[in-house]
Amino acid sequence: MNAFENDVERARALEALLAGRYPDARGRYGPFGGRYVPETLIPAHERLEQGARRWLRDPDFQAELQRELRDWVGRPTALTPAPRLSARWGVELWLKREDLAHTGAHKINNALGQALLARRLGAQRVIAETGAGQHGVASAAACARVGLPCTVYMGAVDMERQAPNVGRMQLLGATVVAVQSGDRTLRAAIDEALRDWVSDPIGTYYLLGSAVGAHPYPYLVRELQAVIGREARAQMLERAGALPDALIACVGGGSNAIGLFHAFLADAAVEIVGIEAGGRGARLGENAATLVYGRPGVLHGSYSLLLQDQAGQIQDTHSISAGLDYPGVGPEHALLQQIGRVRYRCVDDEAALAALRECCELEGILPALESAHALAGARVLAAAQPRRRILVGLSGRGDKDMPTLTARLPHEQQAAQVSRRRE
Ligand SMILES: *Cc1c(COP(=O)(O)O)cnc(C)c1O
Repeated sequence: MNAFENDVERARALEALLAGRYPDARGRYGPFGGRYVPETLIPAHERLEQGARRWLRDPDFQAELQRELRDWVGRPTALTPAPRLSARWGVELWLKREDLAHTGAHKINNALGQALLARRLGAQRVIAETGAGQHGVASAAACARVGLPCTVYMGAVDMERQAPNVGRMQLLGATVVAVQSGDRTLRAAIDEALRDWVSDPIGTYYLLGSAVGAHPYPYLVRELQAVIGREARAQMLERAGALPDALIACVGGGSNAIGLFHAFLADAAVEIVGIEAGGRGARLGENAATLVYGRPGVLHGSYSLLLQDQAGQIQDTHSISAGLDYPGVGPEHALLQQIGRVRYRCVDDEAALAALRECCELEGILPALESAHALAGARVLAAAQPRRRILVGLSGRGDKDMPTLTARLPHEQQAAQVSRRRE
């Protein structure tokens, strides 16, 4: 099934995309996107849309953003050749190192940009929601830097599972609110954050963490993450002397992927692949591969692809990586898939773990489990088509995943015992 009737329509949509006509005036990417929110939230979204369109174009705002990206986030992040992985996989592999960005992942690009925007819009406080806690940490750090109080909603169940991140948020000055309603995880936290926003849509800024949600968030987050691809494209031309043959990133909500992909969409010779979480297998509930297995529907304010059952009920998802464990995906990815510009595939938990270990052992880099999915995708691509130049978006570092990794490491690795007989 495809959202477009035929190749002519798909080509027309690609043309519109490359001409910058998406999102359109209704916040749509072809048939996807839009703004499916309660009446009470429309004014807040409209205000944010006007603010985003004004300030993102403002030279003074851009100068401030660029300065903070350089001085505080540490941009540009490195482009690293990976010679030993290249030799093993039979390709020329390059890594765009978002793991080197402040707080350890790409999420800070978006959190900082939106915190600066919140200040320009005259907000008195910032709210956010978080599941695994990574976006909460980035938001707390950005708000501290910008000087705005930050409240993070987090399901009580998630708070228990992610205790170190709760501590980090609190150290960074944020108030973490334990959500006891509903499923007491991310879904309930989102509901609470929206309720808070409705009560004061002018004084409060809602800082969303991925390229999902109602218009203008997918657009705003893409614009703030597009710095990844702009840098990577220039760095490839300078360092490798050519563009990559293929470009790969992992896709949860889709922010690091859209950020990396965007500058390359017009380069028709560059193959672009998004890698989702294949989890334990293809059955509903066993993965978080929305673009691979999902069907169209509305979730969190946007029409996109979703993991749902026949009755339209959103399904539970599974991934070894918390950051990819989400039943929806940003609307621009749905469009990119349906027009055929980007291919979406998934790799399972075991493949991600294996790629993570290879990257550690051969390159001295511990990637996030999310990023390890992109590496595993590159490995599959390399096996099918060797000798190509491949650029992988390394979205974050893996220190946060140590509890999961320690539990999954083979037994003999857990403790290399030194036994020495006493003389
Ligand atoms: C959150 C996260 C992701 C997934 O989010 P996207 O919006 O899809 O980028 C990927 N990698 C890392 C390291 C993350 O923290």
